[in-house]
Amino acid sequence: MIAYLERVSIPEPNNNEDDNVSLLRNSLEDLQLQGSIDYGPTGSASKDFGGMQITKPLAVIRPAGAEDIAKVIKLASRLPNLTVAARGNGHSINGQAMADRGLVIDMKSMESYNKIEVRRHPPCADVGGGALWADVLKRSVPFGLAPRSWTDYLDLTVGGTLSNAGVSGQAFRYGPQTENVTELEVVTGKGEIVTCTRNENSQLFFSVLGGLGQFGIITRARVLLQPSPQMVRWIRVVYSEFSEFTRDAELLVSQEESGESFDYVEGFVFVNSDDPVNGWASVPLDPNHPFDPAGIPTSAGPVLYCLELVLHHRENDRPSSVNLVVDRLLGQLRFCKKLRFEVDLKYVEFLSRVKVAEQQAKANGIWDAPHPWLNLFVSKRDIADFDRLVFNTILQHGIGGPILVYPLLRSNFLGAFITC
Ligand SMILES: Cc1cc2nc3c(=O)[nH]c(=O)nc-3n(C[C@H](O)[C@H](O)[C@H](O)COP(=O)(O)OP(=O)(O)OC[C@H]3O[C@@H](n4cnc5c(N)ncnc54)[C@H](O)[C@@H]3O)c2cc1C
Repeated sequence: MIAYLERVSIPEPNNNEDDNVSLLRNSLEDLQLQGSIDYGPTGSASKDFGGMQITKPLAVIRPAGAEDIAKVIKLASRLPNLTVAARGNGHSINGQAMADRGLVIDMKSMESYNKIEVRRHPPCADVGGGALWADVLKRSVPFGLAPRSWTDYLDLTVGGTLSNAGVSGQAFRYGPQTENVTELEVVTGKGEIVTCTRNENSQLFFSVLGGLGQFGIITRARVLLQPSPQMVRWIRVVYSEFSEFTRDAELLVSQEESGESFDYVEGFVFVNSDDPVNGWASVPLDPNHPFDPAGIPTSAGPVLYCLELVLHHRENDRPSSVNLVVDRLLGQLRFCKKLRFEVDLKYVEFLSRVKVAEQQAKANGIWDAPHPWLNLFVSKRDIADFDRLVFNTILQHGIGGPILVYPLLRSNFLGAFITC
């Protein structure tokens, strides 16, 4: 975020870098923050998850709450060219949460401010901007509640994903996480603490949501909750034809109104080979049920497609009744019938699935490797060309990591993106 530049009566910076740094330090100390300021080695604040950018901030601010952030932003707004970036869990790329010779505000450090208060009526949680979604889940499930819309991975902060969008397999039904908050507390670029909703200070509300941290710092959010599912049937089915894969995925996300439907729809592309990272082995959910390449049609190309689906159910539902619903829903799809994989899991275990992958990746050193990545929204009109040129040509040997592709309904993004 680049703070507004508004010169008032503070010492003029000069051309000597050291003098400027000490002037800034003095000004920061004068703020008498409740939290702390770190001028030393800035560690993780100098890096991001992409691992392609390394930039050193002048200082890392560890605020105790919104008041501290407001003081810092007010100061920054008076200093020409001083940049400020909020840092959630630093899991974005391209230096988004970094400030080259600027100030990084470490949102996770606001421990008591990041508390999570769950309310039953109406079901919602008031959550600090630096709280992790994993903690929102932990805190809300004992109340029999859970947020409606997720990301695949939960060690991300509430402010960090709300500044982007926050999408996963529930977004076809509930929209991204930005559509599932009703109120925000924001520190603006002028250092004011403002509460905003769709109706009150709505321009700020819609600017901050998906605003990449450029319109204000989210210090608190009211997140919509719903009754927490207990169990999930987690299913993967494989396609050799992209046209059938997209037809089925689009069918599933548009049959909401007709009653019975899956509760989560995602998908991915994988390489049609025995490559242990990019190939067939990336599909099975149960080690006792490996991928049998005999199930792949001979007409298949260099890549295959997998629809990933989830049906929520209750702990005491009989497996046969869950099977009936699953079979009915899968019965309308055109996947390769011998390539169907499924397991039953607790809801919380399902939502924590990438944590398991993280632990494995940390053990073999991949987690800290550079992670360039790209998220794109491709229109339905162009997705078949995209498949031909990108998946089947440029990426036909894989990328050494997941290539996710799944349908979203534009209508679920309207609130945040069209209104602003
Ligand atoms: C393993 C992994 C899996 C992921 N899976 C998904 C997924 O399934 N769906 C999805 O949508 N995304 C996913 N992401 C991307 C992730 O949602 C974004 O990169 C998100 O911004 C990271 O959150 P963070 O808390 O680490 O934010 P940071 O990386 O710390 O910050 C991201 C941006 O938000 C700004 N920001 C941070 N906190 C605030 C705040 N409180 N107020 C205002 N601005 C703020 C920062 O300045 C920066 O511009 C994934 C990332 C990883 C590493």
